[in-house]
Amino acid sequence: MHIIVVGCGLAGLTAAIALARAGHKVEIVEAAPQIAYVGAGIQVSPNSSRVLRKLGVDKYIEKYCTEPVDLRMMRWENGKKLVECPLKKPSHDEYGSPYWHVHRADFHRGLLECALELGIVTHLDNRIVDIDAEAPSLTSHTGRRFTADLIVASDGLNSKCREVVVGHASPPIPTGQMVYRVTIPARKLKGIPGLEEMITTPRNNHWIGPYGTILSYLLEGINETLVNLVMTIDVNGRMPDGVNQRLSSADAARAAFKGWDPRVDQMLEHAEHVLEWRLFTHHEIPSWAHSSKKLIIIGDACHAMTPYLAQGAAMGIEDAAILGGLLEKYPTMDTIGKVITLYERLRIKRTARVAEASIDSRYFTQMPDGPKQEERDAWLVEHPGIWKGHINIRSRKEFLDWLFGYDAYKALNEAIQAEEGGDSAGKGTSMGVHSHVAEIISEA
Ligand SMILES: Cc1cc2nc3c(=O)[nH]c(=O)nc-3n(C[C@H](O)[C@H](O)[C@H](O)COP(=O)(O)OP(=O)(O)OC[C@H]3O[C@@H](n4cnc5c(N)ncnc54)[C@H](O)[C@@H]3O)c2cc1C
Repeated sequence: MHIIVVGCGLAGLTAAIALARAGHKVEIVEAAPQIAYVGAGIQVSPNSSRVLRKLGVDKYIEKYCTEPVDLRMMRWENGKKLVECPLKKPSHDEYGSPYWHVHRADFHRGLLECALELGIVTHLDNRIVDIDAEAPSLTSHTGRRFTADLIVASDGLNSKCREVVVGHASPPIPTGQMVYRVTIPARKLKGIPGLEEMITTPRNNHWIGPYGTILSYLLEGINETLVNLVMTIDVNGRMPDGVNQRLSSADAARAAFKGWDPRVDQMLEHAEHVLEWRLFTHHEIPSWAHSSKKLIIIGDACHAMTPYLAQGAAMGIEDAAILGGLLEKYPTMDTIGKVITLYERLRIKRTARVAEASIDSRYFTQMPDGPKQEERDAWLVEHPGIWKGHINIRSRKEFLDWLFGYDAYKALNEAIQAEEGGDSAGKGTSMGVHSHVAEIISEA
């Protein structure tokens, strides 16, 4: 089939690669006049690295990835260690695929290189302003018209295609929080007491505090080692209404996090790039395809979520694997109804649960100081590592098995087999999940 993918973000590029590998002719239409890389680092958990490896994208990005040993949670005001949850070892030993930290520029460039090698044509500077889902066709702001057999829309948080699928405006919802996204060359922090480990050991350093958190991790990018900071806090008038992203300054971030671990302040003295970013989420929608069956949405366009679990792009990458696999098995428009049914069955509930878990994680990590926080901290100190029933979702074995252990290709094969064999038992949302975990998750 001839398929047009709208949007050249992480989900769109992965989908384009998956669809090309499935034997389709793929073109991408992108609004931006050039591919720009916003934000700095991104975490790629085993559920998404597995897909990237299967699609052969690892060849283009692995050299830029670091593997964090663990997630270390610390008290906001002094960096006192509360708990460490291993990441590297279980990712390899239990989930069979690595946990990566990578600069978005390197990730994006790797995906793009892979897409270009597969012969995927990219039309930049074509913002889609009109969508005819029945034809299907797209018209860009330049007046250019694109037609195809099928449109896969990955146009992100403010997706126009989502509106067409839903049939009405469906804007993202502000969460009341924002992040300062900061990068600092690690060399500038050399010799500062207390920072040595942070600039040499790959790990997630996570300060948890009242109504905010700070995450730092290392990026071994193409140029030099960077410290990547994601500093989350209530907006509280810090950004003007209507502004969702803008350049900021180290001073603004320092003022917002006054009183936190003094090492953060020391790091911010050397910050080179600071961006302010308002955080949004989406309501779950019941369908991810237009009734014409010729327009399907993926990625943030369907399920933009809060970043507290670092799973937004991972879910888009899983969507891409599933949709690509379905369109390999059922490669014509005659069977598109089956593709859509299975795609929605496999994806909608899983992404909604991840989005919910991400919100739970916000409230767990951002408790105001007081008796509940003291109880939480005491519990964390006594329970390092990964345990069944752990109060911290980041350490809860059954949740991690469900999240990181998810094999999109296994889920896909099981769903196809169930469909072909008419096995209604396979039609739940837990496919690809170990059965005991599936029970726990479906009870949640
Ligand atoms: C602070 C923060 C930290 C995060 N950290 C992580 C993390 O560690 N791990 C993780 O997995 N996720 C993370 N995420 C989430 C992740 O960044 C997003 O989920 C992901 O980038 C979304 O990819 P996408 O391709 O769906 O959308 P986008 O990346 O938004 O791409 C959409 C593309 O569509 C184009 N487009 C839009 N409208 C049109 C149009 N009308 N016509 C043509 N083109 C159009 C845009 O220009 C863009 O290129 C984080 C998010 C935030 C805010």
